[in-house]
Amino acid sequence: MRKLPIVIVATSVVTVVVAVAAATHFLSTTPLKLDASAPPELTTGAIEARWPKPGIERPTAAAEPMPSVQPAETTLQVTGNRPVLAKPACNNPNALGISRTVQIDTTGGPGFGMSQYREYDFLQPGEVVLTFDDGPWPVTTPAILAALNAECLKATFFPIGKHAIWHPEILKQVVAQGHTVGSHTWSHQNLAHKTQQEAKDEIEKGMSAVAMMAGSPIAPFFRFPQLRQTAELKAYLRERNVSAFSIDIDSEDFKIRKPDALVASVMTKLKKTGKGIILMHDLHKWTAAALPDLLTQLKEGGYKVVHVQAKDTLATLPDYDAAIAAAKAVKTSSTRPISNVVQNVEQRR
Ligand SMILES: [Zn+2]
Repeated sequence: MRKLPIVIVATSVVTVVVAVAAATHFLSTTPLKLDASAPPELTTGAIEARWPKPGIERPTAAAEPMPSVQPAETTLQVTGNRPVLAKPACNNPNALGISRTVQIDTTGGPGFGMSQYREYDFLQPGEVVLTFDDGPWPVTTPAILAALNAECLKATFFPIGKHAIWHPEILKQVVAQGHTVGSHTWSHQNLAHKTQQEAKDEIEKGMSAVAMMAGSPIAPFFRFPQLRQTAELKAYLRERNVSAFSIDIDSEDFKIRKPDALVASVMTKLKKTGKGIILMHDLHKWTAAALPDLLTQLKEGGYKVVHVQAKDTLATLPDYDAAIAAAKAVKTSSTRPISNVVQNVEQRR
């Protein structure tokens, strides 16, 4: 018999009242199916077209709602001679909190998320896993961290390698707050349209970049951009002992841009599935703005949040680590002060 690779690490007390209230919401436990007519998670194309480089605001930015939560105060502490980010305390006695933490043994690359992988249905009725893709991103990722911290919650983040290179300090905040960090490729290409080698490069560069910028080992968890996978790539992840994470509930926050509508949509879908891994994106302002209300509604609905951890850390590949280190060095050199780069060696008087 195959051993279920999930071990319950901790379970907090959940009152009977909450359990009974929650049970009334789960009339159906049929998982959401991704159907071919459903819009894709994201359009394929150059990442720069969808996500402008830092410092360049999107034209519609002014019309977007701002997150209502200020970034959590993540403070610097000095340990030895190295400053490290300190985890902010969560002192909310009425917080939603984590109901249990599960630890996943990724040996052999088991997949999770019932829309694509049905081997391991580890969530109980009423349980959800919060996942955020495509960060780290200024303002929105810190706002999401603050909203999670206000409710003493832990989530799983699937950052993009390029974004990690651009915003390592934000990624380090995600790590410092105790969230699980996986990866989501180097530049968010649709891997189903790539050669096997190109796709492997995208996966491995993303893993190396996120791990290097996080400053500490990450989880062997991976999410395919747009959830587009191939049998060959799934086999590759199995070889690498990396778990692919699909979803149960798509927030569709790539197109639902009003926080109220976004919350209503997620709650409606959740009532149908009864539980599941929820897909959101931490680079959208409307998602950051919606999260406090979504967490309140989850609490009022009696839902329980499960924190997913990995038993082992990801083993990145040295060649890709070297390539990322070189890319990082180029980036660093391009930001040297001009006086370090261009010097007057002779001037006519
Ligand atoms: Zn994505």
